[in-house]
Amino acid sequence: MNYQRIGAEQPAPRKDDRITITGAGGFIGGNLVKYFRDRGFTNLRAADKKPFEQWYLRLPEVENLHIDCSTEEACQRVCEGAVEVYNLAADMGGMGFIERFRVECLRSILINTHMLEAAHRAGVQRYFFSSSACVYNTLLQQDPNVRALKESDAYPAMAERGYGWEKLMSEMFCQEYWAERGLKTFIARFHNVYGPNGTWDGGREKAPAAICRKVIEAVDTGSEVIEIWGDGHQTRSFMYIDDCLKGIDAIMHCDRLLATPLNLGSSELVSINELVDKVEKIAGVKLQRKYDPSAPRGVAGRNSDNAFIRQVLNWEPNTSLDAGLRATFEWIQDQYHQRKEGRVVVI
Ligand code: NAD
Repeated sequence: MNYQRIGAEQPAPRKDDRITITGAGGFIGGNLVKYFRDRGFTNLRAADKKPFEQWYLRLPEVENLHIDCSTEEACQRVCEGAVEVYNLAADMGGMGFIERFRVECLRSILINTHMLEAAHRAGVQRYFFSSSACVYNTLLQQDPNVRALKESDAYPAMAERGYGWEKLMSEMFCQEYWAERGLKTFIARFHNVYGPNGTWDGGREKAPAAICRKVIEAVDTGSEVIEIWGDGHQTRSFMYIDDCLKGIDAIMHCDRLLATPLNLGSSELVSINELVDKVEKIAGVKLQRKYDPSAPRGVAGRNSDNAFIRQVLNWEPNTSLDAGLRATFEWIQDQYHQRKEGRVVVI
C-alpha cells in the first residue's frame, strides 16, 4: 500500500524496514505505531516501560517490548536492526504533573541520551526526538495575548523548569550527534497534542481531555458545575493527533530539517474559557464555572508561530479545534461509560 506523505522530499522507508517507536504505550507513540501499521509497514517495534495492560493501543502484529529505555542495555535492545527510531518516551503529563514532578521530568534525559548513542551504534538512518513548546523562554509567555513563539525564541534560554530544560538539553544532544557523529536527527517541538487514545484521568491528562472528562462527569452526575484551573483566561493552541502524526512523518523525511528544531502545533489560539465553551456546546450543556486560582496554570499564554513549517513543508496542522474536540469528546465519553460499567479501560 502506498501513501501520500506531506512534503514527500525523501523517499519513505521500505515497508519491511525495522521502525522502532519508544513511548509506544503512551498517547502519541501508540497512535504512531498504528499510523505506520495502517500504511503497510510490517516490521514495527514498539517499546514502553508500562506493563502491556496499561498501553492505550497494542497491536498484535507488532513486536511489543515492555522495557525501560533509560538504560544503555535497554536502548541497545530497542535500536537493534532499526532503520528509523522515533523516541517518544518521556515521563510527562499536563501542567499538574510537570509543575509537581520536576525531577521525574528531568530524568527523561537518560532516555534520549542512551537512545541516541544506541541508535548511532546500531547504524540507524534517521532519529526523531519529540521536543516541546515548554523549551521556550517563559518570560515571553506572561501575557494571555501572546505573540506566537517562533523557533528562535528558545534562546536566550529560560525554559519551563524541569520538563522544558530536559527537552532543550536533549535537543542539543540531537544536534551534536548530527554535527559530530553524522546521525541524522530530527526534532519537533510539539504544542499541546490531544485526541483519542490518550490520558484522560488520573493526573497526567492535559486540558482538552480534562475538560471533556469534567463536562461528561458533570452531565452524568447532574452536578452542573465545572472546576477550572486558574482564571480561565490563559491561552493555548491545541493540535489534533492526526496532524501530529502527519507532521512527524513529514519532518523525519525532510533533510532540510536535519537537526533543526521546529514547531509542530496549531496556531488556533483559544483561552481555557473558550475551550470549555466548545466542549459544553458539543455536550449540549451550560455549566456553572468554579475557578481555582491556586491550581497549576502554567504560562499565561502560548501559541505556535507556523511560518517556518509552512515555508519548509508547505503545510501546517489544520484540523479545526471543533472537529478534533468532538472526536476526542466522543472517545472519552465512551471510555467513561465503559469504566462506569465495570469494564477495564486505560486512563
Ligand atoms: P504519554 O505519557 O502518553 O507517553 C509517553 C510514554 O513514555 C508513556 O507511555 C511512558 O510509560 C513512556 N515512558 C516513560 N519513561 C519511559 C522509559 N524510561 N522507557 C520506556 N518508556 C517510557 O505522552 P505523550 O503525550 O504520548 O508524549 C509523547 C512525547 O511527546 C513525549 O516525549 C512528550 O514529552 C512529548 N510531548 C507531548 C506533548 C503533548 O501535548 N502530548 C506536548 C509536547 C511534547
